[in-house]
Amino acid sequence: AGIINFCANNYLGLSSHPEVIRAAVEALEKFGAGLSSVRFICGTQSIHKDLEEKIARFHQREDAILYASCFDANAGIFEALLTPEDAVLSDELNHASIIDGIRLCKANKYRYKHMDMQDLEAKLQEAQKHRLRLVATDGAFSMDGDIAPLREICQLAQKYDALVFIDECHATGFLGPNGRGTDELLGVMDKVTIINSTLGKALGGAAGGYTTGPKPLIDLLRQRSRPYLFSNSLPPAVVGCASKALDLLMESNAIAQSMAAKTQRFRSKMTAAGFTISGKDHPICPVMLGDARLASVMAEDMLNRGIYVIGFSYPVVPKGKARIRVQISAVHSDEDIDRCVEAFTEVGRKHGAL
Ligand code: PLP
Repeated sequence: AGIINFCANNYLGLSSHPEVIRAAVEALEKFGAGLSSVRFICGTQSIHKDLEEKIARFHQREDAILYASCFDANAGIFEALLTPEDAVLSDELNHASIIDGIRLCKANKYRYKHMDMQDLEAKLQEAQKHRLRLVATDGAFSMDGDIAPLREICQLAQKYDALVFIDECHATGFLGPNGRGTDELLGVMDKVTIINSTLGKALGGAAGGYTTGPKPLIDLLRQRSRPYLFSNSLPPAVVGCASKALDLLMESNAIAQSMAAKTQRFRSKMTAAGFTISGKDHPICPVMLGDARLASVMAEDMLNRGIYVIGFSYPVVPKGKARIRVQISAVHSDEDIDRCVEAFTEVGRKHGAL
């Protein structure tokens, strides 16, 4: 009905890309609907191995392991890697799945203030008594569209002999000059040890997740990671579309660049109109409104004007920080972006937000 979606994680528009859809259909026809098995029994086909190899190549890492979701990748990694003699240091605003994954492990837990390097350093000093230290952070945080200070995190990790883990769900495919993610954007690809990410956002949007990193770590996960060992293999159609999405991104960064240009257009026009947009240069563009009711009525009115956005308020975000989270995609046209800004301006004026 002419409604434009501005609240999906479909950053590159690949979920509707004809080649991605064709790859899914071909995989479905050639490899079947599903494997009725976990990977280590009879759930591994050539396409699963190929996709793991492609993911590792994309991130310039040694190996990769697939999961049914990134939630599962996060649920599996900490328990498999860390013992009660180890420590994990986690940003307080990390995604729920990282928090849950950490809960499942027996390592000593330290929570540092959001992106606060002084606090991380203090916690790293406290954690020196443990055998191994792992710093865990989202690469890009989904509520604020802000990007973890990975350079500083990696420097501290080096100083205090810690490993760095990043969750790249809101970065893979589009952040950095070649869309490799936050580590590429900030020039620390050789310093981040472990990456978890999703196939369910920029990479085709269907489902699936993975860990990529050093081969011995991936081997360990294949032996010990419970969501990998005890959950079904990814369906061939999903593998097919993720694999094609990666091919497209490795051939050219044009799609990612087009999304970045549209993000810039939206952020600068909204700022010029008088709105406060949180974060910087990220397609997650939270329009900060403060009041929960205002966010909800404005989102409703935006829909009446053909723009699909959602208001976020407490407990999803802190009290007094209600917002409408806009997400830009490569499939939006410049006209779509302008229509969204115009609708925000009208609705903002009507409700006294401007
Ligand atoms: N990590 C982050 C930062 C996310 O935003 C999400 C999805 O919302 C996940 C993990 C989970 O990803 P998936 O949908 O593949 O389980």
